[in-house]
Amino acid sequence: MKHLLLVGGGHSHLAVLKSFGDAPLEGVRLALLSPSRHAFYSGMVPGVVAGHYGPGECRIDLVALAARAGARFLPDSAAGVDPARREVTTARGERLRYDVLSLDTGSSAGEPAGAAEHALRARPVEAFLAGWERLREAARRGEVRRIAVIGGGAAGVEVLLAMQHGLAGSAAQFALFSELPVLAGHGARRRIARILGERGVPVHAGRKVLAAGENGLELGGGERFEAQAAVWATGAYAPTWIAQSGLATDARGFVAVSETLQSRSFPEIFAAGDVATVIGAPRPKSGVFAVRQGPVLARNLRRVLAGEALERFRPPSRSLALISCGDPYAVASWGRFSLEGAWVWRLKDSIDRRFVERYRLGPAGA
Ligand SMILES: Cc1cc2nc3c(=O)[nH]c(=O)nc-3n(C[C@H](O)[C@H](O)[C@H](O)COP(=O)(O)OP(=O)(O)OC[C@H]3O[C@@H](n4cnc5c(N)ncnc54)[C@H](O)[C@@H]3O)c2cc1C
Repeated sequence: MKHLLLVGGGHSHLAVLKSFGDAPLEGVRLALLSPSRHAFYSGMVPGVVAGHYGPGECRIDLVALAARAGARFLPDSAAGVDPARREVTTARGERLRYDVLSLDTGSSAGEPAGAAEHALRARPVEAFLAGWERLREAARRGEVRRIAVIGGGAAGVEVLLAMQHGLAGSAAQFALFSELPVLAGHGARRRIARILGERGVPVHAGRKVLAAGENGLELGGGERFEAQAAVWATGAYAPTWIAQSGLATDARGFVAVSETLQSRSFPEIFAAGDVATVIGAPRPKSGVFAVRQGPVLARNLRRVLAGEALERFRPPSRSLALISCGDPYAVASWGRFSLEGAWVWRLKDSIDRRFVERYRLGPAGA
């Protein structure tokens, strides 16, 4: 009996669980290690914040998906890997043996000084949505007058515009801080700049935020910015336990994998989604690539367990980004090209709903 251990219920592992549920593999014992019983589909998270969806509409029940795949569900998180012993250590101190290991644990939103106490981080999603509920109520009571969002990528822009929509009618004001130009590298950056301007959002581009404190932000050059709340949505950061485990990593600490999604140092370890970087074909850390890697990862895990040759993941050079704007309106960005309209939002809504439906086994909100 071979042990396949899946760590993290990210976008790629959803496809793996579905594959093993559709067609079990004899002689393989499967387990899923996840701190949460739910996977959150990030594309719909801004829609939850804006009030277009209930939280149940963007989450997938991992316990049900694991049960269908014949996998044991282990409610804990990985704290380290011992590749020599082929064991994963969990946060609670358990040791889980594996023959083949697959990591899909995502990335974090960064941790600047003071942020844990005074800023709401956009990831992990479950904690973010709980924090948003509290922030929304505080803003409605008038306790929060100004909210600063740190992070000028698609996630920061979407979250800001979604919060603004969710708080329509309240007096809350917003400001966006970004170390780089907002949506640097996106064809849609001018459209988004115009939309932020139309909606009265001051953009502080080229400003490094050093820390979030009780009454605002500490900026480079000793300046302060007054805000009663800060939302941290900066780029993707790797968990430190990856590098500490001795796995080969890229310069930022993400698992270095080959095109077969195998660790460059231990071929029995696979990784996909944000936590992995395909050496020679790196792509931005986005859900689009995690989703695309899912079916390849599923087939390769089956193949390695059956002793067959593996296939390569060949990412497209660019991907379509659909950036929601709070109201049912969105901007599509593909390379240098961009489009916008209510129809873009409807397109995004139908793509997102279809994704979640594919993995939903029980009633909405299960
Ligand atoms: C607000 C927001 C909106 C976004 N919108 C989009 C979008 O529209 N399109 C897009 O392409 N990208 C979007 N992104 C980026 C997207 O969220 C990520 O790229 C994507 O979620 C990565 O998927 P993943 O499979 O790597 O991991 P995730 O989906 O992040 O899942 C990782 C899972 O692993 C679990 N986990 C974490 N640590 C451990 C551990 N130590 N042990 C076990 N389990 C663990 C977590 O609980 C989580 O369930 C958005 C991000 C944010 C923050």
